[in-house]
Amino acid sequence: MGLVIASVPDSESASSVNVPYQRYTVMETIPPYLLCEMTPYDVLRYYVGPPLLMVSTTVGVQALALVGGDGTQNWSLLGSNYSWTVVLGLLVWALFSLWIPGKEFLGPTTQLGYTPRYKANGFQFFLLSLTVFLALLFYRPVTAVELAENMPQILASCNILAMLLCVYLLVKGKVSPQTNEILESRPILYEFYRGMEVHPRLLGVDVKQLTNCRFGLLAWELLVVAFFVAGWIKHGFSLAHLSCATLQTIYLGKFYWWETGYFDTLDITLDRAGYYICWGCLVFVPAFYTYSSYYLVAHPPLVSNSAAILILLLGIVFIALNYRVDWEKEYFRAHKGKCYIWGYQATFINATYESSSGIRQSKLLTSGFWGIARHLNYVFEILAAFSWCLPGFGYGIWPFLYALFLTVLLVHRVFRDEEKCRVKYGAAWVKYSKVVPYRMIPGVF
Ligand code: NDP
Repeated sequence: MGLVIASVPDSESASSVNVPYQRYTVMETIPPYLLCEMTPYDVLRYYVGPPLLMVSTTVGVQALALVGGDGTQNWSLLGSNYSWTVVLGLLVWALFSLWIPGKEFLGPTTQLGYTPRYKANGFQFFLLSLTVFLALLFYRPVTAVELAENMPQILASCNILAMLLCVYLLVKGKVSPQTNEILESRPILYEFYRGMEVHPRLLGVDVKQLTNCRFGLLAWELLVVAFFVAGWIKHGFSLAHLSCATLQTIYLGKFYWWETGYFDTLDITLDRAGYYICWGCLVFVPAFYTYSSYYLVAHPPLVSNSAAILILLLGIVFIALNYRVDWEKEYFRAHKGKCYIWGYQATFINATYESSSGIRQSKLLTSGFWGIARHLNYVFEILAAFSWCLPGFGYGIWPFLYALFLTVLLVHRVFRDEEKCRVKYGAAWVKYSKVVPYRMIPGVF
């Protein structure tokens, strides 16, 4: 987000390959020192945007919890004993999953030569956490209602935890950065918002694996299960609410199955650990990504059982298609292009780029889903999200907030990702964009 990417074409040294490579570096524009010399965009970006966003989102998640609740909940600034027990309990559980000895996974090496290390036990962590939580709900079902009714307090605790972490990341990034990825100094609130380091570690673990994968996404899973049970206790069993929770469980199970693939995405390789990503995963994901399920606790679904079954089936198809698109790329890369996609020899464009270890070769797949549009995985992701929001049909926009937000997020991400690829691969990316001209929907966009 907010990056200017400078590229220096260097075609001479790449004469032996199909297309010239680009030497690329990612850096930000340096804001003018004096406020009066800044453009309105600079002022907005560095001084107005971050505080405005931070205040509005922090207040916004509390407001959403109240709007979607049953009218008995109250604003919470500091949380409660209950909420701190829940939040710290989840944090410790998440930390243990990364501390226990086990297989390590090495993420992509940065341009400065740093190779991040992750724990490769995501799916086991997901299954064990879900099993323990289901057992807890079996023996003490009222836990589900307590979690739903204490959402404002839980979010207040998550907020404080996220703020403390972001302050730590800012200070650490300024005083003793570990991974020499620090940029020029910026206005402090902007640095707090954007983050300082791409791969900071804390208590022996990678911060983004902790906040994104092990806290935020697990909170998402456990909360949607809890909200389904809470709705059941309050209004009786609902197949539609079950479809909503089941689809998200399948989606999140798929995420944990593929967790090591996530370490190659923009969230991990480009975004710095700060308010944007860490607050996002510690607070926004539990508050907002779960919202379609949360809303149904106080507003029982209006859709029929047959519609619920149809929604479930549709959602499974979209999740499977999203997985299939991601899988085709991984399979193709794992086989270095020597493989069959949809029964035919895979076709691709050769590309080169410069990394810390010199010039490297890559291939851009042009067959299968990657030959239809350049980001079909995002399209299926959005359709899957709409399908698990559909059980809230009849209650206006509220149950659909997540899917609408995701649409904006992913369309914006298309442009971020394509800018990265255009600079990284240069002419090869331009060629790929000609061979596969549409970004998301063939013939439309
Ligand atoms: P992609 O999986 O589409 O990965 C994009 C990267 O793949 C590019 O940067 C490039 O990286 C490589 N690439 C692009 N085109 C090709 C090609 N034709 N052949 C080979 N490699 C190519 O995007 P994301 O990493 O953003 O998303 C991964 C998954 O996560 C998706 O399923 C997405 O829907 C989901 N997601 C979900 C979000 C949510 O909030 N729910 C948010 C974001 C993503 P390289 O430099 O390696 O060449």
